[in-house]
Amino acid sequence: MKAPPFGYVKARELGQVFDLLDQHGDEAKILAGGQSLIPSLNLRLSRPTLLIDINAIADLQGIRETAETIVVGALATHVALEKSPIISRYVPLVAAAMPHIAHPAIRNRGTIGGSLAFADPAAELPACATALEATFILRGRSAERRVKAAGFFHGLFETDLRPGEILAAIEFPKATASHRFAFSELARRHGDYAMIGLAAASPQPGTLRLAYFGVADRPVAADRAAACLVKDGAAGIEAACACLAEDLEPSGDLNAGPQTKLHLAGVLLQRALPSLLTSA
Ligand code: FAD
Repeated sequence: MKAPPFGYVKARELGQVFDLLDQHGDEAKILAGGQSLIPSLNLRLSRPTLLIDINAIADLQGIRETAETIVVGALATHVALEKSPIISRYVPLVAAAMPHIAHPAIRNRGTIGGSLAFADPAAELPACATALEATFILRGRSAERRVKAAGFFHGLFETDLRPGEILAAIEFPKATASHRFAFSELARRHGDYAMIGLAAASPQPGTLRLAYFGVADRPVAADRAAACLVKDGAAGIEAACACLAEDLEPSGDLNAGPQTKLHLAGVLLQRALPSLLTSA
């Protein structure tokens, strides 16, 4: 199918984006990589009258290192993250997730900001951001807000972004020598959205965040299961798997029913365990 008619503006600076968002309200949509937005237009699931292309805005580009964090501009593409030595060294969970996102052609265009703002519950990056407790930097015309990943995802394709705001950057804590992580997902074919997946991070001994995706309308942190592993290490795996039922309460979808998802969540946790154990 073809998209309905729409206007197009290539914005050169953030002020112009905010002007256009003010003028057009809900009728306007931000265009980043277009890898989710354009298919949704072609399928007539969305009918914006104006697309505001943000790709030329320098403020939204790049991957930057500070003393304790890595700041990734919203326009950093999946392939830029996949190939970045800074990401593989300091945010290795994100580097590990990248090859699972779609296919190279889509990763060449798709952006981290687009993926997080789109908030598909089966997407990899929202779960990675949740496991790493990343901070989302949201810019409006007159203010900047910093929102933790746990508060950013409100539901199916719904986020904390307010009218007139855009996601400008994402800040990840830098991994130190004691950082452990694991990423694992199950998909019917490589490159498909996952049936279920797990992004796990242990920044230091005694801490562990398990973020599942593909189980609910947003990434879900399995805190009870994580506590079992922190307390008892490998010996806690059975109790941790039992806790997943309470942590996740998975909903079924076209791929699998709730019981199958729960079983697969346990399988992913067992697979992740060896990578996490030394610090859990
Ligand atoms: P766009 O499509 O340009 O925008 C997506 C949405 O976010 C739009 O509503 C847009 O208005 C909004 N938006 C974009 N940037 C911003 C911003 N900075 N601030 C505020 N709002 C913004 N993704 C996965 O995670 N895993 C997969 O396995 C996967 N498989 C795919 C398979 C196919 C065949 C296709 C076509 C896509 C797949 N994707 C997958 C989606 C892909 O990762 C997209 O690139 C991503 O979801 C959206 O990024 P984008 O830059 O293309 O955003």
